[in-house]
Amino acid sequence: MPILIGIYLRLKKDIILKSEGFVKDINPVCSFCGRQVPNIKQVIANPEGDCFICKECIEICQEIMGEQEADKFVPEYDLIELPKPQEIKAKLDEFIVGQDEAKKVLAISVYNHYKRINYNMLHRKSGDEVELEKSNVLLVGPTGSGKTLLAKTLAKTLKVPFASSDATALTEAGYVGDDVENILLKLIQNADYDIQKAEHGIIYIDEIDKIARKSQNVSITRDVSGEGVQQALLKILEGTIASVPPQGGRKHPQQENIKIDTTNILFICGGAFVGLDKIIAERKGNSKLGFGADIKVKGELSAQNDIKGIQPHDLIKYGMIPEFVGRIPIVVELEPLNQQALERILVKPKNAITKQYIEMFKMDGIELEFEPSAIKEVAKKAIELKTGARGLRTILEDKMLDLMYKSHFDDKIQKIIIDGDYILNKSKPIIIKTNKQAS
Ligand code: ADP
Repeated sequence: MPILIGIYLRLKKDIILKSEGFVKDINPVCSFCGRQVPNIKQVIANPEGDCFICKECIEICQEIMGEQEADKFVPEYDLIELPKPQEIKAKLDEFIVGQDEAKKVLAISVYNHYKRINYNMLHRKSGDEVELEKSNVLLVGPTGSGKTLLAKTLAKTLKVPFASSDATALTEAGYVGDDVENILLKLIQNADYDIQKAEHGIIYIDEIDKIARKSQNVSITRDVSGEGVQQALLKILEGTIASVPPQGGRKHPQQENIKIDTTNILFICGGAFVGLDKIIAERKGNSKLGFGADIKVKGELSAQNDIKGIQPHDLIKYGMIPEFVGRIPIVVELEPLNQQALERILVKPKNAITKQYIEMFKMDGIELEFEPSAIKEVAKKAIELKTGARGLRTILEDKMLDLMYKSHFDDKIQKIIIDGDYILNKSKPIIIKTNKQAS
């Protein structure tokens, strides 16, 4: 920068040019800090000679400019405090029942993701790095098997911002619906508008299977709701400087957009991929025929929605575009939850639903107890609903709300016992009052 500290006076010709006399006559005052400058050698004036900047202010300006330049090329990020994969898995175990394999794969993938960010940050300055590429994750499993919960718990474990969105709400730019940038806005909001923090966050996109191309023949039917959204998502998934409207909604030419680099954001996509089991079974069946290997009965596979051993080609056949599949190299399969798993979900996790109800009643001075028969019946009902663990809360809430309401009218209630018959609407709950009488 051509800043010369010292005498550099370019004054209008009619202004006195003799420096000593100049100082005496004009007494320059720094236009930035307002101080009077005693020595003419310590100021720079503008060509008109009516505006001055002192040596101290020049130095401060140089410092600021220097910092900005450095920021532009080598961002100073804090390294992410990274728990080991075993520690991540242990944290997931506290909140999520079963899905052991999925938890292991996720713990390692997420660990590698943040290790990669730390590595890139450390080596950026020296310039001797091997640029490590990110690997987004795809969770495949039925509704209510814990996909969203896994993504959310991972973000909590790593203390990074989290946002979740539904792919079905998204549309290609120019169509009615949400622009993909709105997903980023949610993350920025959850990071309290700290962009640097948001750039290290986790985004979960649910129902990704719903934006599968309906037809494999792209040239004939260009599927706006499917392929277009996949293309739009692809950009932010692979890493781009996205421009996000601060108020959400559509981009507006007059609006000052927020810039965010998506390179280090971890995208976890999830979906049930109903029907994928058939594609896998077909592939396995076909490939095994020639070798005379044991062929499983297709119907049996379909009934269990057996999605083990998903290959990228299966997802492409399902309707995901190859570039999209290429950007989500880690595929994690989740098991459907059986009755025993649902029973454990009701009582085991740190924030299990029954524990939450027990706490809520305790606040009103009432002891609440769930008998094993009640747990069993709630789980059985949830299996019938076919919505995985999602149904558990609905079923229990239905029974508990009424009870909570009524218990407020009777301050003699000391304890309430919920059993299987109450869940099945066969009897009332067992209520113990202060005089020890059971009703
Ligand atoms: P998905 O995203 O697979 O449809 P969610 O993660 O949204 O399912 O699960 C819905 C709710 O069910 C969660 O908030 C959680 O309370 C419960 N849940 C689902 N799966 C599990 C699990 N494996 N362990 C504990 N709770 C679970």
